Amino acid sequence: MRYGIFADVHSNLEALEAVLQAIEKERVDQILCAGDMVGYGADPEPILRLLKRKAHPVVAGNHDWLVADRMDLDWFDKPAQEAALWTRTRLPEEERIYLGNLPLIWRDTQLTLAHGSIHEPDQFHYVLNLQTARASLQVQETPVAFIGHTHHPGVFTEEQGQISFSPSAHVSLRSGVKYLVNVGSVGQPRDGDPRAAWCLYDAAAQTVEIRRVSYPVEKVQAKIRQAGLPEFLAERLALGH
Ligand code: ZN
Repeated sequence: MRYGIFADVHSNLEALEAVLQAIEKERVDQILCAGDMVGYGADPEPILRLLKRKAHPVVAGNHDWLVADRMDLDWFDKPAQEAALWTRTRLPEEERIYLGNLPLIWRDTQLTLAHGSIHEPDQFHYVLNLQTARASLQVQETPVAFIGHTHHPGVFTEEQGQISFSPSAHVSLRSGVKYLVNVGSVGQPRDGDPRAAWCLYDAAAQTVEIRRVSYPVEKVQAKIRQAGLPEFLAERLALGH
């Protein structure tokens, strides 16, 4: 099986289209989305239409649940709050119900999918360092798990109780070792590279690769400004942070 896995689309349609095009060229068997489909960007409705068709499974991100009114606004900074309130006005009730009903975790025998840490997933802990990675890896039941949330791609590894991190874009998986892969962000990368990120997981070859793809950032910035969303949300896309 070959999987195309991504997260943190954040209503950025042009970035999602570029990623889906790249995924199609790789002839993957399944497309998975690790949450935060909406919030920040100007295209929530087209994003949901497209992802409902293309991606399965999809798990809930904190922004998805915020738009669905399942999270407290105070938990978020000002631009995120403004974007969520705006997004609510743009989505029909059935789409908000759909977002609110998304599961926090999806799992089969091979892999786990979640937005943030697998440890207390309803708290959306960020996996930012070896300590937070350990908490997540301790409750990870599958050899490999895919998450997002920090918008920083990279791979945490647990081998004989030792946790390590690699920002490497290509990792060969070994048996007896557990991997927690952060797939980065499609719609709002924050690692200094403005290109959209996604992950190719080849289960037969046992490889994980983080891929990057360019998209027309200016077009997305213009839509954000036209929608009256915070200017900061447009600016940061060109910088990749
Ligand atoms: Zn996010």
